[in-house]
Amino acid sequence: MKPIALAIHGGAGTLRKGTMTLEKEKEYKDALKLALEQGYAVLENNGSAVTAVETAVKILEDSPLFNAGKGSVFTAEGTHEMDAAIMEGNTLNAGAVSLITGIKNPVSLARDVMEKSEHVFLAGEGAMRFANDQGYLLENEDYFRDELRYNQWQQIRGSDNFQLDHSVKKDSKFGTVGAVACDSSGDIAAATSTGGMTNKKWGRVGDSPMIGAGNYANNKTCAVSCTGSGEFFIRGVVAYDVSCLMEYKGLTLEEATEEVIQRRVLSIGGDGGLVAIDAQGNIAMPFNTEGMYRAKIDTSGITEIAIYK
Ligand code: ASP
Repeated sequence: MKPIALAIHGGAGTLRKGTMTLEKEKEYKDALKLALEQGYAVLENNGSAVTAVETAVKILEDSPLFNAGKGSVFTAEGTHEMDAAIMEGNTLNAGAVSLITGIKNPVSLARDVMEKSEHVFLAGEGAMRFANDQGYLLENEDYFRDELRYNQWQQIRGSDNFQLDHSVKKDSKFGTVGAVACDSSGDIAAATSTGGMTNKKWGRVGDSPMIGAGNYANNKTCAVSCTGSGEFFIRGVVAYDVSCLMEYKGLTLEEATEEVIQRRVLSIGGDGGLVAIDAQGNIAMPFNTEGMYRAKIDTSGITEIAIYK
């Protein structure tokens, strides 16, 4: 039996101590704790890393606190368009969906793309037809609606601005979600899910569903789930860059993630963070913002749940 470990995030951004009430802070930590525990329970029962990350991400999607599934941000049209990806490190199998609507758990649809189609990435109407073929029921718009997200949208509605829900207002909620896990067979996996950016239009897709940008897993190196300004994470091919630094340059997980988040992404103007794990169960959770909702259970079984720097 190999050592098991799990790390999750709920988005990175301008999260400063004192800008959130203690009750709110507790709500976030409780939601992270629940996702962490349920994901970890899968690993404890010898479940696979891919099931562990899907389980953890589903719980975060079901929470209105995060910008994924329920609680996703509003598009310029006042709708919710969600993106998600999942990847297995032992086979390099991957599945992703983007621009989907009405699906309660986009991460599960991404997993179905990986396991039940010949494809890796399905988008928009086609992804919705695939969901229909797989028997998914649709939630109506009200299910995804969150008052705070609505107000965030009202402030820039009608403008050409689009905005990371991570930034600006001190009471804003943050929240693309993701998970990485290492299971008892030594396999690793990563999953990421998001509502994207407030007021996005033109079918804008961020890094989260793009294999290698916001999500990646390879047993030889690491599993990575990112959060932050998606355009920069796409240009930096961030998740794969971490993997490459480990594979080709021999960097450790810690060194590779630091190099990418604290130097490479920053140097092109990107802000955000990531959670990463390797096949020995080492975990890294770097970010270059004020904070990142994050939690982990390491190979010694020690739990850490944190928000600020
Ligand atoms: N990276 C996501 C995107 O650009 C947003 C986020 O991390 O909150 O769609």
